[in-house]
Amino acid sequence: MRTPDTDQPHPARVYDYLLGGACNFAADRAFAERLIAAMPGAPTAAKINRAFLRRAVRAALDLGVTQFLDLGSGIPTVGNTHEAAPGAKVVYVDHDPIAVAHSRDVLAEVPDARIVAADVRDGEAVLAGARELLDFDRPVAVLAVAILHFLDDAAAALAPYRSVMAPGSVLAMTHATRDAENTGVDEARRLYSGSGMPSYARTKAEVSALFEGMSLLPPGVVWTNQWRPETADETDPTSSVAYGAVGHLA
Ligand code: SAM
Repeated sequence: MRTPDTDQPHPARVYDYLLGGACNFAADRAFAERLIAAMPGAPTAAKINRAFLRRAVRAALDLGVTQFLDLGSGIPTVGNTHEAAPGAKVVYVDHDPIAVAHSRDVLAEVPDARIVAADVRDGEAVLAGARELLDFDRPVAVLAVAILHFLDDAAAALAPYRSVMAPGSVLAMTHATRDAENTGVDEARRLYSGSGMPSYARTKAEVSALFEGMSLLPPGVVWTNQWRPETADETDPTSSVAYGAVGHLA
């Protein structure tokens, strides 16, 4: 695993700061403040994203899926997958050493969850680690929540996971987009790129294509806070700056 470079901001810790977490460093906080100046809705978007994760986990449980592969799982915070799905088997994956170390701490006493320290683009390594806990002959829920927009070829990154998903499996995703105007997302992407964290906004059509061969659970590919909201949400849907969707493999 890489040594943490805490002098440079990292998406895992910037996201932690946006969520109000304490697992971030001066460089992350300085970057996040510049991000918020450019995109005042960034903390709201982070919270909307995190709330989607919990709803998507429950949708998978409702379909009888009790195994989860959480790609780019991040620094543990409120509502982690194993907490949203008690009793399920959960494999977290992240490449940030700080996220991995904190996950190990949090999971030390959780027998049915573990963290694989790997780059999600290395499907072979991730799946080798995941197979120690997950049975890919049975349905699995692959969570790709706020991760694919950090990857230049999202379809290629997903391919190894798509290839081992048994019928009945689920793919849950959020993905940043610049489909709406005046959200600050372009400026945010410039900031991320300028700090060595390139990101890739995708259109609704491009996000939908990542579910090819699956049926989409209603309501399909929508602004993240419009995906099965649990309370009346007065927030402008575009403030999520991301699409959310859950696919189901027949
Ligand atoms: N999935 C969590 C959520 O939605 O609440 C965390 C999302 S956070 C914005 C993105 C996470 O993806 C970070 O923890 C980052 O370290 C991780 N990440 C980014 N690129 C990655 C890669 N190539 N391999 C593994 N993890 C990656």
